[in-house]
Amino acid sequence: MATLADLALAGAPAQARDKPSRKGRHREMLARSGAALHRTATGIAEAEILVDLGDSIGSGRWWRGAATLAALIGAAVTIGGRTPTLVGHVPATPSMAELEERQIGAISSLAGGSETGRRAAPTAMAKRLSETPERPRIELTAKVGSGGLEAALRRSGLGKADLDRIRSLLSGVVSGSGVKPGTDLKMVLGRRESRADPRPLEHLAFRATFDSKVEFSRGADGELKLKRIPIRIDNTPLRVTGVVGTSLDRAARAAGIPAHIVAEYRRQMSYAIDLQRDIGRRDRFEIIVANRRAETGESEMGGLLYAGLINGRSNVSLMRWGNKGEFFWQNGEAVKKGLIRSPVSGARLSSGFGMRFHPVLGYGRMHKGVDFAARTGTPIQASASGTVVMAGWGGGYGNVVVIDHGRGLRTRYAHMHRIGVKNGQQVSQGQTIGQVGSTGLSTGPHLHYEVWQNGVAVDPRQARFMGGTQLGGGDLRQFKGEMARLKALPAAGGVS
Ligand SMILES: [Zn+2]
Repeated sequence: MATLADLALAGAPAQARDKPSRKGRHREMLARSGAALHRTATGIAEAEILVDLGDSIGSGRWWRGAATLAALIGAAVTIGGRTPTLVGHVPATPSMAELEERQIGAISSLAGGSETGRRAAPTAMAKRLSETPERPRIELTAKVGSGGLEAALRRSGLGKADLDRIRSLLSGVVSGSGVKPGTDLKMVLGRRESRADPRPLEHLAFRATFDSKVEFSRGADGELKLKRIPIRIDNTPLRVTGVVGTSLDRAARAAGIPAHIVAEYRRQMSYAIDLQRDIGRRDRFEIIVANRRAETGESEMGGLLYAGLINGRSNVSLMRWGNKGEFFWQNGEAVKKGLIRSPVSGARLSSGFGMRFHPVLGYGRMHKGVDFAARTGTPIQASASGTVVMAGWGGGYGNVVVIDHGRGLRTRYAHMHRIGVKNGQQVSQGQTIGQVGSTGLSTGPHLHYEVWQNGVAVDPRQARFMGGTQLGGGDLRQFKGEMARLKALPAAGGVS
């Protein structure tokens, strides 16, 4: 639409004439009327319409100026009445309810009075209810805490009947310590009769063990049913090798081996080599750990399976074997030798452990050791390495030596002819500590030998720690096969 501004433009009529066909007849008409107005405006300007109305009031010139102003105002009002109003939003003052509604919808801090969750302000459309209506079913996720599965379920609102049912259904699936803390429980609770009742469990799913998920759902008969979903597990052990460097512990930890596995590696190695002298910084360690990888992505490291050290001089290959978790050299010899079975080599066992008639005292008493008959002067060997905690006269024991082997294990050697060690001395396994004799309450030359475990005398022949196991036959063949299989595993996470 042509405006006053257009009209003031000297070129407007020419412009309009240039494009009549494009703008259409209406535009052409407007252009023509614009041109007429322009001519009128030019005429008015020539007639000196720009009059200072403050000057020579009442003169003919002044009146002409006033009339021109009145005409212009009249024209402006006439045209202005037909110009559409500019669109602009001027908000009305909001009511209290609207303000409240607005505050609820806005995001602001809790400290600033913000409410959590969406609520409608009470208006004609929304009325406050006396109590919140219950949702027909609730889907929720809970986490098993230190209190175990049942505590988590109880906290989620399950009733006693459901808990009892779950416990009995689970008893065959999860054993021992039960479901791991941190396990997510996904459940759906259904509609209840009244608020006093717990909601019935409709569905519950969680990972019960590393290799299985369980799903509880309510059947048509209203009873909870258990469905077990196995998770595929890859049991390939993890083989890690690396250079020892400045610290074996640091190198192994850097390769991803957990601290307790490194400690176990050191412990088994300590039976085989001198950890201080036999490990160099260029040596390579080889650690194979039991490992389980679930198809869902989790992995769980188990115990140490193989401990190896390649130092070029005396390579060590130790592998766990048997249900006692003992480690063996590759030739099937147990790495931990335990106690020597007989501290007197080639001696005859003359009296066993237990109640017997004492030939010197003349009455029955507990025989807390075993006797080895041997000629006077036969060397007695320390049955394991340790510290001499007694070497001297022991009354009825005669000349006696007691060795502490650590971990609550002590051995006593009595009736010695001669003592070869001093109190406080370190002895190694098999070292001669004295000679067979008949000192103290003794009827003839023999070694009275006792083994004490945590202050209790035990039968040396039946004690488990007697060790010195040697694998043989088919067992050894299987052992060697397993070791070859482990060592052939591709190394993972190794730093070379
Ligand atoms: Zn005896």
